[in-house]
Amino acid sequence: LFVTFEGGDGAGKTTQAQLLEQWMISRGRAVVRTREPGGTEVGTLIRDIVLHHRGEVAARAEALLYAADRAHHIATFVRPALERGDVVIQDRYLDSSVAYQGAGRVLGREEVRDLSLWAAEGLLPDLTVLLDLDPAAARARLDADEKPFDRLEAEKEAFHQAVRSEFLASAAAEPERFLVVDASRSPEEIARVIRERVALVLED
Ligand code: C5P
Ligand code: MG
Repeated sequence: LFVTFEGGDGAGKTTQAQLLEQWMISRGRAVVRTREPGGTEVGTLIRDIVLHHRGEVAARAEALLYAADRAHHIATFVRPALERGDVVIQDRYLDSSVAYQGAGRVLGREEVRDLSLWAAEGLLPDLTVLLDLDPAAARARLDADEKPFDRLEAEKEAFHQAVRSEFLASAAAEPERFLVVDASRSPEEIARVIRERVALVLED
C-alpha cells in the first residue's frame, strides 16, 4: 500500500502522515514513513539545493532536481519497501511537482507529470490525500506555530494560489486515486476521514 500526502505548506501533511502511520502500526502493519524531497541520503543533498538556493536555480533545473530526488528515492527506498509488503506513507510526491513546477513555475502540467513518471518508472500511489487549505489560512497557521522560517514567504501569493488550483485540478482528474480533505477541519476529524478511505482501499 502506497499512500501519499499532498497540499501546500502548513496544510498539516506531516501531522496526518504521522497519525496514519500510528494507526497502521496499531493494526499490525509494517510501515515506512518518508518524504520528498530528501527521503534518502542523496536526496538530502538535493533538498539542500532546492530549498536553500531557491530562486537562483533555473526553473527547468529545479524540476530536474526534484525528478532526480524522486528517481533515486523510488528506486532505492520506496520500491524495495513496497516489494517487502510494507505500507509506505509519503509526504509529497509527483503531484507536488505538477503543482509547484508545472503550475507555480509554469513549466506545464503534462511535461512535469511525464518527467516525474519517467523518473519513478510509472509508479503511482494507491491513494493520495490532498489536504486542501487556502494559502492565507496556511500562513496564519504557520505564524501561530512559530515555524522557524515561513517557507510560504519565499513565493508570492499568486504562486500559492496557482499551486492550490493545480492540486485541485489533479484531484479532479483522478478521483479514484485522490481523497480531498478540507484541511481547516480538526486534525482528529481529518484523521478519521483518511482512515475510512484507507480501510476501503485495503479491502480492494
Ligand atoms: O516541508 P516540505 O518538505 O514539504 O517542504 C518542501 C518545500 O519545497 C516546500 O516549501 C514546498 O513549497 C517546496 N516544494 C516545491 N516543489 C516540489 C516539492 C516541494 O517547490 N515539487
Ligand atoms: Mg510538512
